[in-house]
Amino acid sequence: MKASGIIHNPGRGTFRRLQVLRAWRVTPHMRRVVLTGPELAGFSFYRQGLGPYVKLLVPPLNLKDPGWPRIGESGAIECPVDQRPSVRTYTVRDFDEELQELTIDFVLHGDEGPASRWAAKAEPGDSIALLERGFSHPYGVDRYVFIGDHTALPAIAQSLENLPDDSRGEAVICLGDDEDKQHLRAPPGLSVTWLIGEKTIELPSLMRDLKLASAEPGEYLFLWVGAEARLARFLRSHAKDGLSLPKDQYSILNYWRRGFAEGSFERSG
Ligand SMILES: Cc1cc2nc3c(=O)[nH]c(=O)nc-3n(C[C@H](O)[C@H](O)[C@H](O)COP(=O)(O)OP(=O)(O)OC[C@H]3O[C@@H](n4cnc5c(N)ncnc54)[C@H](O)[C@@H]3O)c2cc1C
Repeated sequence: MKASGIIHNPGRGTFRRLQVLRAWRVTPHMRRVVLTGPELAGFSFYRQGLGPYVKLLVPPLNLKDPGWPRIGESGAIECPVDQRPSVRTYTVRDFDEELQELTIDFVLHGDEGPASRWAAKAEPGDSIALLERGFSHPYGVDRYVFIGDHTALPAIAQSLENLPDDSRGEAVICLGDDEDKQHLRAPPGLSVTWLIGEKTIELPSLMRDLKLASAEPGEYLFLWVGAEARLARFLRSHAKDGLSLPKDQYSILNYWRRGFAEGSFERSG
């Protein structure tokens, strides 16, 4: 029997100040921001991990200081109150080691969130900082099922691009707008289904798709979900109680929670 399981690597925080190199709209509600800077030296990420992510320290709008934020002698970030960063979690959509370019895709969901607001206006030279974080890596998987909304599209796209060519499975991506679909590169045995429009949040259509997530006897199926907290909660209880998946066969995260800023809710509760 082949070995299977999951490695969670929460990583260690390495603080780096970066600058925007270029930024553009990939689709109407997604802006791609490419970051670079001398402090990116030594950055690495585990390409085979599913949804590798970093913590971004997002500056207030219109801050143009490349030395921001400063570190005090104690090693702590020292900022005047009006320059304090907002900590937000984002997927490493790509990292080009040779060119030292780190790519992040931001969903533009309005001006209420500091990260979305910053990304909408980011231009070359703007400062941001990051703390490395982690990834999860299931191994020995026979079949993958990915389910995610727009915020999880970067993670699903990155994962599909980097899975071994003989990987099998399905990805179901729920979007509010047809124009936000992207061309995804995936192994030939991995199909992608787009569910478009608010009604896709309705549970029946997802239940229909979730029949995909019933494992055959002896099959190591892995269910990966990144979504709004209500949908993630439903899928978590469905994985546990409906599909009886053991804990090492799923990773279901609250990527965001309607009405709550990041930091004010649990990721996996
Ligand atoms: C591991 C991980 C990886 C992630 N990767 C990405 C990624 O690559 N790209 C990406 O765009 N997001 C990603 N997210 C989600 C992102 O961290 C959240 O959407 C975050 O809340 C955005 O921060 P903000 O400052 O814009 O909004 P916040 O200040 O956190 O929230 C302000 C308000 O905006 C609402 N809000 C937040 N996000 C959304 C949204 N998507 N749509 C509508 N309303 C929203 C909140 O409910 C709140 O009312 C990821 C999350 C996790 C856990």
